[in-house]
Amino acid sequence: MSKYENCKKSVLEASIWLSEAGFFGSHRGTGGNVSVRADEAALAITPSSVKYQEIRASDICVVGFDLSFIDGNDKLKPSVEAGMHSIIYQNRPDVNAVIHTHQIYGSIFSIINTPIPALFDEVSFSLGPVIEIIPYALSGTPELVNNVAGKLSNNANAYVLQNHGILALGKTLDKAILHAELLEKVANIYCLALSTGKPINTLPEAISELAMNIRNYEVQEAQGKK
Ligand code: 13P
Ligand code: ZN
Repeated sequence: MSKYENCKKSVLEASIWLSEAGFFGSHRGTGGNVSVRADEAALAITPSSVKYQEIRASDICVVGFDLSFIDGNDKLKPSVEAGMHSIIYQNRPDVNAVIHTHQIYGSIFSIINTPIPALFDEVSFSLGPVIEIIPYALSGTPELVNNVAGKLSNNANAYVLQNHGILALGKTLDKAILHAELLEKVANIYCLALSTGKPINTLPEAISELAMNIRNYEVQEAQGKK
């Protein structure tokens, strides 16, 4: 039994839950990917282009932050976005799980190029005061990895990938799933609210600042500075 067994099982369970709940944009496709930090310099991630219903725990790939093979089914390749997941773990000590989905309402913001502002305190305290748009680059490319790296310093737990989908980060896999759900909730409501044409009431500046402070504190705490 591999020492990564528990990581692999939790990645598989989360992927199936997200797939069945519609977060990947289709039930029969293979869009999206899920990972956890497996140790100091490794991650466990879903294999590329395998339907979630057909993945077994032993198929989850464990790779180093340099994407070198460590453990898994050597007939399967890790997700093409493994580099994007890896750069997040390398830059954000507070993050132990990363989810990339093609969820519907989050994806609407990916094509209207509009960041989601602070609208509900529970969402902003968990995700950050603004859900920013990460500029487009083709899936699986070093350009996309660079574009993601360029936004991580705002310490948010959610981002929209332009013309693509979303990223949800968390201290645990359960939190990352919650963050994907909160993003979908706020994107759904903001989209409907914008379509009324009426003015949008955002949270007061002081609450938005509090949300920023909470996110900064959690990152500094993970860096051992608090
Ligand atoms: P993988 O199947 O390689 O994980 O790719 C899916 C995807 O969403 C690419 O952005
Ligand atoms: Zn994708």
